[in-house]
Amino acid sequence: MSLVYPLVAPWGRFSLRSFFIDAPEPAIVDAGVTESPEAMRAQLESLGRRIEDVRWILLTHGHIDHLGGAYGLWELTGRKAEVVIHRADAPFLRSREAHVQEWRDGRGRWLPDPEGEAHERALLAAAIGGEMEPTIAVSGGETFDLGGVPLSVHAIPGHTEGAVAYVLDETRDVFVGDAVQAYGAASGFPGYEDPDRYRASLEYLRDVIRPERLYLGHPYRRADGTAFPEVLDAVDARAAIEGSLEREAQIRAAVLPHLAVGLAASEAPSSPFEPVAAQLGYTGDPTLEPAPFFTTMNGYVTHVGPAAEQESTR
Ligand SMILES: [Zn+2]
Repeated sequence: MSLVYPLVAPWGRFSLRSFFIDAPEPAIVDAGVTESPEAMRAQLESLGRRIEDVRWILLTHGHIDHLGGAYGLWELTGRKAEVVIHRADAPFLRSREAHVQEWRDGRGRWLPDPEGEAHERALLAAAIGGEMEPTIAVSGGETFDLGGVPLSVHAIPGHTEGAVAYVLDETRDVFVGDAVQAYGAASGFPGYEDPDRYRASLEYLRDVIRPERLYLGHPYRRADGTAFPEVLDAVDARAAIEGSLEREAQIRAAVLPHLAVGLAASEAPSSPFEPVAAQLGYTGDPTLEPAPFFTTMNGYVTHVGPAAEQESTR
């Protein structure tokens, strides 16, 4: 008998996946955006459960489409639920401004739109319902008790620095948010801030956590373009993790030679990474927010390529 129910909501081109854990102390993994908690209330009612009774709001990482609804959801629980996030991503729960800073230092460096920062602020104002302190900031290694159901927290950085997996230890149900991207979701490209750590976390999930069931934050796709289901069994879970490693290796092989010779600007929307997009057969619009193409390219420039080497030996 499953304890876990997917709570799915549309958001622009994306579908957001949150999950209800029907434990004695009920939990919701990821809070969606501002309007998501009201939709969750109705979905829980149809299961014969009440959102007021939720005692744990478990955030997999600090992106807006995962924590934008946290404040509203916390309010619906009468502020009784614990709100959990990794300490490295906690600034994104505390302030919208932290997201602007992250945008400016990351993908925003490469996006050509002069209005980009203003658009980002408007998006943040709409999608994040309120700023708040987490009630519990984790580092990984913690275990919580959902009323007799043990749940452990594992740091899996790479997509963001503070990405975590929540694991129901007795059944090895594993919630990873966006840390397993396979071939990407609606934008057709996987997004991660730090390629080496993304890779190491995928290997940790495959070799140490070994999910019986895996839950992803969006309908991420296989190499053939079909989406993984809302609940991945052990075989799908393995395929999603292996597919993520495979795509990362392809991207790495395409990017590093270009970083070695130096980047050249072009007229293409993927500039200055046009040859990389061409080599990978990536034909999507890389400038559409959340722009995972540029997030990932920035990750190789910052953490892996020759400039990163200079940075670390300075
Ligand atoms: Zn994310």
